Amino acid sequence: MTAVTHRAGWSRLPLRAAAFVVLTCTAILGISAWREWTARDAVLRGAETEMANVARSLTQHAEDSLDLLDSGVVGVVSRLEMDGTDPATIGKLRNLLEVRKKAVPRIHSLAIVDDKGNWLTSSGAVTSTLSDDEFFRHQQFSPKREAYVGSPVKSLLDGEWVVTLSRRFNRLDGSFGGVVLATISANYLSHFYEQFEIGRNSSVTLMHGDGMIIARNPSNDKFAGRSVADTPLFREPSLQRPGGAYHFKSPLDGVERVSFFKRSSRYPLVLLSTVDKEELLAPWRAAAISRMLYVLALVLLIAIIGAVLVRQLQRGQRMAAALSEKEAHFRLLAEGSSDMVTRIGLDERLRYVSPSSIRVVGWRANQLIGTPALAGINSEDLPQVQAIVDAMKRGEKDEARVTYRNVHRQNAEVWLESTMRVTRKDNGSVDGVVAISRDISEQKKLETRLETLAIEDSLTGLANRRRFDERLKEEWSRAYRDRSSLALLMIDVDHFKAYNDEYGHPAGDACLRMVAKILAAEMQRTGDLAARYGGEEFAMLLPNTDAAGCARIGERIRRAIREAGLVHMSNQASGSVTASLGGAASRPAFERSAGGASLVEAADRALYIAKAAGRDRLMMSGEVANLLPRASGF
Ligand code: GH3
Ligand code: MG
Ligand code: MG
Repeated sequence: MTAVTHRAGWSRLPLRAAAFVVLTCTAILGISAWREWTARDAVLRGAETEMANVARSLTQHAEDSLDLLDSGVVGVVSRLEMDGTDPATIGKLRNLLEVRKKAVPRIHSLAIVDDKGNWLTSSGAVTSTLSDDEFFRHQQFSPKREAYVGSPVKSLLDGEWVVTLSRRFNRLDGSFGGVVLATISANYLSHFYEQFEIGRNSSVTLMHGDGMIIARNPSNDKFAGRSVADTPLFREPSLQRPGGAYHFKSPLDGVERVSFFKRSSRYPLVLLSTVDKEELLAPWRAAAISRMLYVLALVLLIAIIGAVLVRQLQRGQRMAAALSEKEAHFRLLAEGSSDMVTRIGLDERLRYVSPSSIRVVGWRANQLIGTPALAGINSEDLPQVQAIVDAMKRGEKDEARVTYRNVHRQNAEVWLESTMRVTRKDNGSVDGVVAISRDISEQKKLETRLETLAIEDSLTGLANRRRFDERLKEEWSRAYRDRSSLALLMIDVDHFKAYNDEYGHPAGDACLRMVAKILAAEMQRTGDLAARYGGEEFAMLLPNTDAAGCARIGERIRRAIREAGLVHMSNQASGSVTASLGGAASRPAFERSAGGASLVEAADRALYIAKAAGRDRLMMSGEVANLLPRASGF
């Protein structure tokens, strides 16, 4: 898998998570909304059913009432057709009509009208003619002998709105004899409808087929006699069926209504029972709002949690991308470098080793990863490196540079120079060390060579051994040419090993510098050369000096060292630093073949004897046989 597809695969994850959260929220909202809508629908359906029941039973009631009226009217019509309209018959019928009206409360009036439209029976003093009334003209000109239910009219008797049912009666010759009329009052119907308590804002309306309102509950007085013929209920073809649910905005009071209408199959009547939609839905709405609020809170919670999770995913992903980019850069640098780059964990094991390890230490990276990082370091250099690493691990040091010897797989040992740097976690705590190590063996070799080329001893500032050897050769040759005497003093600090052991190496160095200073002070003639011969051993070359002169200088040196009074408890004889000296003088003319080395040998022998004789003394080569306790005898 390449880095690119790896990253692309990752970035789809938060997107998917976000899509999932959005989908979940949408689904919850969708399902809840759908559920609420279903509940609303159920409320409306329930109301429709209830309205339908009311409409059916009230239509039935209206039909029954008209049937009742009709049965009376039919009886009167048959009497009139048999007995005619003479005053005696009319008088009898009037009584009958009065009785019947009293017996049946829903009858508002019963009357007989002659062929001119004049009242034949009338309970009041009504004198006006009915010849212009719609029902009268209908009966007058219609040969059919059926009951006719006319449009509501205002009663001439008491001004109440009434619905009329009429039949015509014929004379014996078959011509139009008049009309028998029965009415029901709107008030009666309206009162009857009051029993149907179907809601505060509900209504029941009975209408004539032509759109005139016969009766309504509530507010009958306001609506009776009004025409609603131009409403969809009478206009819209789809509503011209026997019955059905009907939702509309009332033209009477402007309220949204759920209703059911029923058309009578036998009479021109339409019954409409309605309920206020707002009022009907109010309890549902209150419950739905509180339920939806809960759902919204839940969805909000899910959305917030989802957003936080998606954010975290994104951040993690960005961090992973940044990290892998960082690592790619690191590898690019580490693996392109000829230096060996290593990462050391807190357990001091190698976590990462760059491929150049094969060149630097002879092992391949995979052979080194997991092994102790300091394992190959020369035991003499290890404490120094270990101390640095420990300090870095403790966080006391951030950077360090150290040179040390390290094993190499083939070349036994190499000198390495490591630049180390602490790495830290985000919280600042140290999590390891990165080291860049270079092979500096060549450089070291060069340094050593340069050192040998130098003429000065770095510790004391005197001439070094190499310089001494050169000068010895030169002076020997010169003394040979000049036939002069060449003298040499060898000076060795007494019990110096013990001094080092007791006072430490740095104090030992200081002591050597003190001796060197005394020797330098004795270089009084040109050509005199004080040198550090090796360790705590010095040599002083004195051209043109004979044995006596040499002994003089030697003794001065011995005394000066002793008198410097540097405390040295292990040097029991004096308690201070002393030195033993061996001196020799020679005239090269006679000892040409032996060269300078013989002079050194002689001085060395004398020194050895001075040591053996008890130290802190000068021995001259010529005096070897005499073994004097001190050279003070000169
Ligand atoms: P003796 O009296 O027989 O000379 O005893 P010694 O201990 O002086 O003799 P030895 O040659 O055994 O010891 C010489 C010591 O000098 C050993 C070495 O540690 C020390 N030494 C050599 N070079 C240096 C130096 O550059 N600095 C210091 N501090 N010590 C050195
Ligand atoms: Mg010594
Ligand atoms: Mg020595």
